[in-house]
Amino acid sequence: MYDLIIIGGGPAGLSAGIYGARARLNTLILEKEMAGGQINKTLDVENYPGIPDGHSGMQLAMRMEEQAKAFGAEVKQEMVESVDLKGQVKKIKTNQGEYETLSVIITTGANPKKLGVPGEEEFAGRGVSYCATCDGAFYENADVFVVGGGDSAVEEANFMTKIARKVYLVHRRDELRAAKSLQERVFNNDKIEILWDSVLKEIKGDKLAKEVLIENVKTKEVKSFCSTGDNDGLGIFIYVGYIPITDYLGGQLDLVDGYIKTDGKMQTNLQGVYAAGDIRYEGFKQVVTAVGEGATAAMMAEKYLSDLSR
Ligand code: NAP
Repeated sequence: MYDLIIIGGGPAGLSAGIYGARARLNTLILEKEMAGGQINKTLDVENYPGIPDGHSGMQLAMRMEEQAKAFGAEVKQEMVESVDLKGQVKKIKTNQGEYETLSVIITTGANPKKLGVPGEEEFAGRGVSYCATCDGAFYENADVFVVGGGDSAVEEANFMTKIARKVYLVHRRDELRAAKSLQERVFNNDKIEILWDSVLKEIKGDKLAKEVLIENVKTKEVKSFCSTGDNDGLGIFIYVGYIPITDYLGGQLDLVDGYIKTDGKMQTNLQGVYAAGDIRYEGFKQVVTAVGEGATAAMMAEKYLSDLSR
């Protein structure tokens, strides 16, 4: 019987592991792959406070994992298949066994949705990115295409105007989905041109992405855009939504748009069950916020367990 099981070993899960184990909770972290999650795909984490020279995402994750283990957290590479979270004793079934625990923190994150167009896979990390905050700095003075019309696309298009020469926001309809306040910022930003009713059809290049083909879905006209600025390549940032990883939860937790709903203290609708990081509806999808949420969830779990034992 564990005190705390953390499902997911990205920054939120590892931070929860550090805080849980340091509070002397008998803590297990279950991660299906190598610990780190999406941060493993980030070449250089430049915005993590206290590391001014940046750090490879993978190394940062490895150090977080070491830290959690040093405090006594167990980390197992297992895939969670199903859970039973309703009773006081919670059951977690993985591809290798079954565990029982008194509290659970869910940090399985979300995967960015892919567009599925030719060149998207080929130029991933060489022009194509799903994280402007992580990779935007590589596109100084480049022409950048941000695909999508939701909050993420609109926020990141605005962010990229600080770095890029010009930002094209490519949206498949003639109206944005994003919050009105965010839309206003885009409409008032001279560096952003919105390509309405448009879809990205193909990405071409050599070592770097250098050309995109964009189709107007109404006129069917296809236009080619090639790199022009000082920077050699184009930036293509794809924000067409995320797919939260909740399939194994069996509908036991309240979701909003597929994300787990929590209060400000990471509490879900079930007692002793918390969520942190990208899986949370309210989250910001940043390493630094994921880490803070993981710590908060672990402290809440500790409080819950001490109340239980009274
Ligand atoms: P989203 O709200 O699902 O928006 C995805 C956008 O991509 C939509 O505009 C959609 O077009 C477009 N899209 C989807 N599939 C496409 C495809 N195959 N080809 C072209 N375009 C496609 O995703 P999100 O912006 O990542 O936001 C996710 C959640 O996090 C939302 O609930 C959002 O409110 C929240 N969030 C909040 C903040 C904030 O509060 N600051 C920031 C970021 C995210 P249509 O509009 O035509 O469907």
